Amino acid sequence: MGRALIIGAGGVASVVVHKCCQNSEVFEEICIASRTKSKCDALKAKLDGGKTKIQTAQVDADNVEELVALINEFKPEIVINVALPYQDLTIMDACLETGVHYLDTANYEPLDTAKFEYKWQWAYRERFEKAGLTAILGCGFDPGVTGVFSAYALKHYFDEIHYIDILDANAGDHGYPFATNFNPEINIREVTAKGSYIQNGKWVETEPMEIKRVYDFPEIGEKDMYLLHHEELESLALNMPGIKRIRFFMTFSERYLTHLNVLQNVGMTSIEPIEFEGKQIVPLQFLKAVLPDPASLGPRTKGKTNIGCIYQGVKDGKPVSYYVYNVCDHEECYKEVGSQAISYTTGVPAMIGAMMLLKGEWKKPGVYNVEEFNPDPFMEALNKWGLPWKETFAPKFVD
Ligand code: NDP
Repeated sequence: MGRALIIGAGGVASVVVHKCCQNSEVFEEICIASRTKSKCDALKAKLDGGKTKIQTAQVDADNVEELVALINEFKPEIVINVALPYQDLTIMDACLETGVHYLDTANYEPLDTAKFEYKWQWAYRERFEKAGLTAILGCGFDPGVTGVFSAYALKHYFDEIHYIDILDANAGDHGYPFATNFNPEINIREVTAKGSYIQNGKWVETEPMEIKRVYDFPEIGEKDMYLLHHEELESLALNMPGIKRIRFFMTFSERYLTHLNVLQNVGMTSIEPIEFEGKQIVPLQFLKAVLPDPASLGPRTKGKTNIGCIYQGVKDGKPVSYYVYNVCDHEECYKEVGSQAISYTTGVPAMIGAMMLLKGEWKKPGVYNVEEFNPDPFMEALNKWGLPWKETFAPKFVD
């Protein structure tokens, strides 16, 4: 059916590539392009020989000209951006210049400010509309599936959703004293930032990790979780009618937080460059270099993740509550695609989003967040492609 250019060759990209190859009817040909070509070649070597034809290329995704040349050469219908958030705008520029659709899993963030918001990418709306191209933003799990869950809840069970709590639990154990499950720089920037949530149309800011709750997760049990700022809050607040409050919680162990506090207290999580032996270095980038590579956690991680959303609202004037979630097992993911569940739960939805676009289910000119599309075919695809979901109409609430 189509050709996809996959940019990035890290943990998430590896899952996207595996899943595209499993889905060769839709992904007839893919090109894996990244900064370090050897990583693309290693992925190709693992998967070559199947029905999906694989090419590889070296590209600096910060450079629009290089991207344009690569896209013109490979001629994909869609670019799946699973590099880093810093590359979102250059890749969108290159898509516009070459007439190709776009999908990513994380919103743009400038290198020098740890503040992620959609304004930079939403500013591309008119240009994508005029070019007749679709850009799908934030199509991983959270953001991504959490938006699809929300659209599904609204479509089938609610007239108005008043409260959304997004709960992201990872009960996986990799056996290291401290490691991050995805790109350490992006992960630490996210968790050391101030928390925030949306209440009555306004952002309420909290200190980092100020709000803690304990929740008894299905199939995982009780975990400490903390309120974080998260990018889907911004788009869901606009796209869910009648919304009064949206919060995002993520679980962290005591051990993770102790390490993080120490690293923060000694300045290792700073993104301000410092002079070291005559060279400028960014402490957080140095920290990334000494921490375990998230890709290496796959074979060591045991346990499960549970990510889902709890909704409260009304249907036909009556109160309704609904909880929809996915439970994913780290070891099973590793058996299937050689990655742990964090990369898996991000890579599978990215493949599904690209499939939705190639099949024409999610094709409309402009720049969209996932909750703006029909959730039904995506929900069906989640069950088929490895992220089955469960639902209950009697959830335990977060206070
Ligand atoms: P990794 O660090 O493992 O991989 C990033 C890849 O991008 C690497 O292969 C890297 O190349 C490549 N890259 C970085 N800069 C450039 C550049 N300038 N040009 C070309 N390639 C580049 O990250 P992950 O796979 O863990 O994460 C990928 C994305 O997924 C991130 O944006 C992350 O925020 C997002 N994510 C989204 C989630 C969701 O649920 N929505 C959850 C988890 C992650 P090199 O190998 O040379 O370093």
